[in-house]
Amino acid sequence: MQIGCHVSISGSIDKSVDNALERKCTAFQIFTRNPRGWHAKELTDSDIENFKTKLKASKIDRFATCAHMPYLPNLSSPKADGYEKSVNSLIEEVERCGKLGIPYLVTHLGSHLGTGENDGMKRLVQALNKAGQVKNDVTILLENTAGQKNSVGADFKQLGEIFKQLKPSKKFGVCFDTCHAFVSGYDLRTDKEVEKTFDEFEKFVGMGNLKILHLNDAKGELGCNLDRHYHIGLGNIGEKGMAAVIKFIVKKKIPIILETPIDDTRDDFENIRIVKELA
Ligand code: MN
Ligand code: MN
Ligand code: ZN
Repeated sequence: MQIGCHVSISGSIDKSVDNALERKCTAFQIFTRNPRGWHAKELTDSDIENFKTKLKASKIDRFATCAHMPYLPNLSSPKADGYEKSVNSLIEEVERCGKLGIPYLVTHLGSHLGTGENDGMKRLVQALNKAGQVKNDVTILLENTAGQKNSVGADFKQLGEIFKQLKPSKKFGVCFDTCHAFVSGYDLRTDKEVEKTFDEFEKFVGMGNLKILHLNDAKGELGCNLDRHYHIGLGNIGEKGMAAVIKFIVKKKIPIILETPIDDTRDDFENIRIVKELA
């Protein structure tokens, strides 16, 4: 079982490996830079070397690591300036992951800002295909969204439609977020519902394209579109549902990454321990 959480790179990027090991992770996710700004400080040779050396020594499988895109880019944006910056940022992150030996880059699909789904999807596909031209072995993973107003890619059918237009196909995969799926109306509370939801995913997107699972319980109700992650088993998906998802995903040998909150109720150590227990 490959399981871990999003870890900080604070101090230097190789510190993420220490943070992962400290939390007994066998998989982890990072931001390759400050996620709150547009600017990324360039990776130095020693940043790259230190990260790679530590990762190798950690015995964590490189293919159980991923990076997440920063927060500001909107790949479906109708605003020319913001769109161009977003596309450049995606290309830059694909390149950074390549240098670090991180095989997967998770990206949100953005917001069409009221211009309609079709327009948003066109821009999104164009952006992804541009980044798909980068010559390295990094796979861009499209993450299903929580279905907030104007968002692109919450339902599997639409995600599948987007996916079909991407070239070269080997540059693309999918990251499934359980909280986002649940709040967009895909039930995950029982074995039966988990099976039904992944059947639907298989039908439109294909399980073979699923490379990373974001395991998050949901603060919101089924179908409420509220993107609020919660501690494993304590949210509205609940313990039974989370256990069903974990068992299903472990069988498929897909790495599991938590993006759960850290608060008075629990920290990452505890959520990871609970996942192992539920498995
Ligand atoms: Mn995400
Ligand atoms: Mn996620
Ligand atoms: Zn989320």
